[in-house]
Amino acid sequence: MKILVVGSGGREHALAWKLAQSERVQTVYVAPGNGGTAKDHRLSNVPLSDPAALADFAEKEGVALTVVGPEVPLAAGIVNIFRDRDLKIFGPTREAAQLESSKDFAKAFMKRHKIPTAEYQTFSDLAAAHDYINAKGAPIVIKADGLAAGKGVVVAMTLEEAHAAIDMMLADNKLGDAGARVVIEEFLAGEEASFIVMVDGKNILALATSQDHKRLLDNDEGPNTGGMGAYSPAPIVTPQLHARIMREIIVPTVQGMAKDGIVFTGFLYAGLMIDDQGNPKTLEFNCRMGDPETQPIMARLKSDLVQVMEHAVNGTLDTVELEWDRRTAMGVVMAAHGYPDSPRKGDKITGIPAEAADAVVFHAGTTEQDGATVTSGGRVLCVVGLGDTVKLAQKHAYDVVEKINFSGMQYRRDIGWRALNRKH
Ligand code: AMP
Repeated sequence: MKILVVGSGGREHALAWKLAQSERVQTVYVAPGNGGTAKDHRLSNVPLSDPAALADFAEKEGVALTVVGPEVPLAAGIVNIFRDRDLKIFGPTREAAQLESSKDFAKAFMKRHKIPTAEYQTFSDLAAAHDYINAKGAPIVIKADGLAAGKGVVVAMTLEEAHAAIDMMLADNKLGDAGARVVIEEFLAGEEASFIVMVDGKNILALATSQDHKRLLDNDEGPNTGGMGAYSPAPIVTPQLHARIMREIIVPTVQGMAKDGIVFTGFLYAGLMIDDQGNPKTLEFNCRMGDPETQPIMARLKSDLVQVMEHAVNGTLDTVELEWDRRTAMGVVMAAHGYPDSPRKGDKITGIPAEAADAVVFHAGTTEQDGATVTSGGRVLCVVGLGDTVKLAQKHAYDVVEKINFSGMQYRRDIGWRALNRKH
């Protein structure tokens, strides 16, 4: 069978890599793909990204199933377009994707359905937003309502930063329409975890837990990024906490959407803050898998993902039990010079091993140029190591990272520090 994966990042490379392992797969098309998906066995890049053009392609090629990686095509209604044409696709509709595409929608939804999250208020009026911040004090968090490619959240530690963030979004329109409304919310302290499930409209299937590293530099310093590394499982999510997250957050979300008349299908990702008493609160919803969380999660998945996806689009996820590699998987992101503000393109990458024991290299911002692999985006590669312990997974990842070279490369040396501290 033929499968289509929409997107071009490390997440999509990992999904396509895993789907291509199924015996039943002839080709996994990746649209538009990257330098890694261009080369892998059974993967093939397709230079398309417009939803209607992708539907034409799926119809013409007889694609049996489409899986969507990023949020932008989901918010644009790619699932609605495919379904209208009787094409099988796994993802949320435009309406369901509002859980991610509008922070105000998500916050009002959580309030209505009593899902634990930070206190908040939404503003489009500049003066009212400034007044609210003065009344609340710092630290405080300012979020653009719409999709802003990871640039829409400012965690302001001082009132000055908070006022500047409000001005940036509401007065200077730096984020365009996405920042025309802002959610201002209470600062939550604690440790973050990523909790991702698959939803078929009714049944919920939890994937392995994971933890991301948002900041650019070691010791969680420097600016926020799309994510500099992730590992799975996340030891902070004990079986008790797992059950509580399902009961208090995930199940009420899926049921709440249904009560509001919106059937949720697709990956549902809850970004959680767990306080020092172990209480989980929802920071955000994504209606797709995380990047880089997908890379270690796919590296650990033993079940046939094609079969799982078929159950997901047919509404029979209740019959699936996922099998996981018991080892830890740790992904280290290698980013381009100038990332996250102005990543440089065109640097030649050397030293990517064709194969490595206990490690996989997923491509993100790479492209093939005259027989060489060169950088073409902010996050360039994600090297995933597997190991019986967190320390071994880390070693296996960094052993490969140290073989790879490109001018200006940036990566963190401390991915996994929380899990290592916890183990000791
Ligand atoms: P979001 O896209 O809403 O998850 O925000 C991006 C990042 O900002 C999160 O991963 C957190 O690190 C941080 N963040 C978001 N909301 C809060 C909050 N209420 N308190 C503290 N940090 C937050």
